[in-house]
Amino acid sequence: MTTPQQLYNLQEIDHRIDSIDAERVRLQKRLADGVNRPDLTVEAENHYTRAVAIGDNVRAKRDEMERLRDRLNGLEVRLYSSNTSRRDLSTIQREVDSAKHQLNQLDELLLELEGEQRTHEAAALAARDEMRSAHAEWQDLIETINDRLAELEADRETSASQRQVLAASLPAADLERYERLRRNKAGTAIARVDNGRVCLACRMTLTSNVLRQLRDKSKQVPCSTCGRILYQP
Ligand SMILES: [Zn+2]
Repeated sequence: MTTPQQLYNLQEIDHRIDSIDAERVRLQKRLADGVNRPDLTVEAENHYTRAVAIGDNVRAKRDEMERLRDRLNGLEVRLYSSNTSRRDLSTIQREVDSAKHQLNQLDELLLELEGEQRTHEAAALAARDEMRSAHAEWQDLIETINDRLAELEADRETSASQRQVLAASLPAADLERYERLRRNKAGTAIARVDNGRVCLACRMTLTSNVLRQLRDKSKQVPCSTCGRILYQP
């Protein structure tokens, strides 16, 4: 005769296996679903291309400034030379003023361009960093999930062999009855009795007749409300 205690032990193992299986399904789904990682490749490339183009422009403007400075030096040499005529002097002075004005403008433009260039370079780097860290995070998560899955696999094997040993020691008819009850009663065939009078599966108070029968620990007594086999530790 199978005691409620034995069936309860079997159910404890079955519940453990159920929870392992549920967690495995959840984790495998998580792996299969993947993660929405941002693809900022195009964004990074656009910023980088812009930075390079601005860099070319910056170099061109610097060359232009260099030429202007050379010209300004030449003009100033002529301005302070003793054999320059008075009429030429005022023409040269105008050219000097104009060259200085252009230099100032170029200088301002360069500052602006260099600022833009830095902004695009920083944005390209930020986009790449963001992708890299999202990738690394996902890799870490995959590793964590796989570790946990391996743990669950081992736990399941242990539980399955414990179940096999226990199930083999029970009469086939009792096992069948237990399994049928599990199927029909949301996975719980054996209900614990609490405070000596309440079925913990359906929360109903047991009749004194049922309680009397429960004194015999070897007997399988069903709950008069939910029909599960009662187990009183
Ligand atoms: Zn019950």
